[in-house]
Amino acid sequence: MTFNSDRIRSDFPILRETVNGKPLVYLDNAATTQKPQAVIDAITDYYTHYNSNIHRGTHHLSNRATEAHEAARKTVQAYINAEHDHEIIFTRGTTESINLVAFSFGEAFVNPGDDVIVTEMEHHSNFVPWQMMCERRGANFRVIPLDEKGGLRLDVFKNLLSDRTRIVAFNHVSNALGTINPAVEIISMAHDAGAAVLVDAAQSVQHIDHDVQALDADFYAFSAHKIYGPTGIGVLYGKEKWLNAIPPYQGGGEMIDQVSIERTTYNKLPFKFEAGTPNIAGPISLAAALNYLNALDFQAIRAHEDDVLEYGREKLSEIPGLTLYGNTDQRTSILAFNIEGIHHYDLGTLLDTRGVAVRTGHHCTQPIMTAFGIDGTVRASLAIYNTRDDIDAFEEGIYKVRTMLGK
Ligand code: PMP
Repeated sequence: MTFNSDRIRSDFPILRETVNGKPLVYLDNAATTQKPQAVIDAITDYYTHYNSNIHRGTHHLSNRATEAHEAARKTVQAYINAEHDHEIIFTRGTTESINLVAFSFGEAFVNPGDDVIVTEMEHHSNFVPWQMMCERRGANFRVIPLDEKGGLRLDVFKNLLSDRTRIVAFNHVSNALGTINPAVEIISMAHDAGAAVLVDAAQSVQHIDHDVQALDADFYAFSAHKIYGPTGIGVLYGKEKWLNAIPPYQGGGEMIDQVSIERTTYNKLPFKFEAGTPNIAGPISLAAALNYLNALDFQAIRAHEDDVLEYGREKLSEIPGLTLYGNTDQRTSILAFNIEGIHHYDLGTLLDTRGVAVRTGHHCTQPIMTAFGIDGTVRASLAIYNTRDDIDAFEEGIYKVRTMLGK
């Protein structure tokens, strides 16, 4: 199977839009990706033909919606190679998945004096919930520092690990730097110390390996909207033994077995963690996104994205006064930089006038910005439909902005 950029681009209708009279060059994929027609159609099809509440219905539409919702769970299970479909919990997104684990794991397993380890490289979503949990449980919040290339100091991690470490949470890929962390090594080090591990896969599941059993992840979280699916739906994978051992996160309909004034017993997995009427169209259209990817060659996607990334790095490094952040050998999909004398916000805003969409600021990673002594960067982030032409338009835009600003 070869990688046909033109065909892929034609599957994403938004790429035919113009912005400020220019063809859209969409380089903000780490924030959210665009949706192929197949995903848009799956949402429309659900609401047009079989919208209904699931699991409790006795009628045709409800049964059809339930079947599609549960088939979607199996599609996610297969995509990340989970052992069981009941290890897939649908949430609102990565943020909710992590908050669920920080709360429920914390309640069951974290006590005063225990340690929780995260990294200086985390999105605030994989930082603040653990800080909150440590405050609640009287535990110590420990942080693996960054090195100057934007990698993790595993030598420090080794020293932080002890028999007091209960859980280690880290992102497989950094949304601010594009660093690919050595997940297998980190997880096996944590396991050797007897700790559980949560992998924030928000920026990895769509670009690199995503096999939860090969990683041996205890928990694994991602958002549909960053992998060509809709907003408002995400996934928490948890090993069955952990999901059975931790209490529910929210109470309500669906998550119960029996309710009485004296006591309530809980439903089996995965429903124990899915209180209330879920986002039914969400998993169905997430499955459409995964099926879209499944029809492509994942290795070819990776090679294509790497080619565009390295082309972009080469082009950017020719620009005088430009500093690139995230310079480890293992990297993917992110071009983060600053240009001397130009504020990142000004560069982003002026690029927009040329139809080029990038993100500027701290990218919800203030500890990284602090470590590098900056307050933000310009970030261009790639997806399957980006090409070298997008990089050329981006580069040309940067030169134009420099001239405009007299730099
Ligand atoms: N973790 C990482 C690494 C991210 O990039 C993001 C989104 N930028 C999140 C967590 C949070 O994802 P969401 O906002 O979809 O919950």
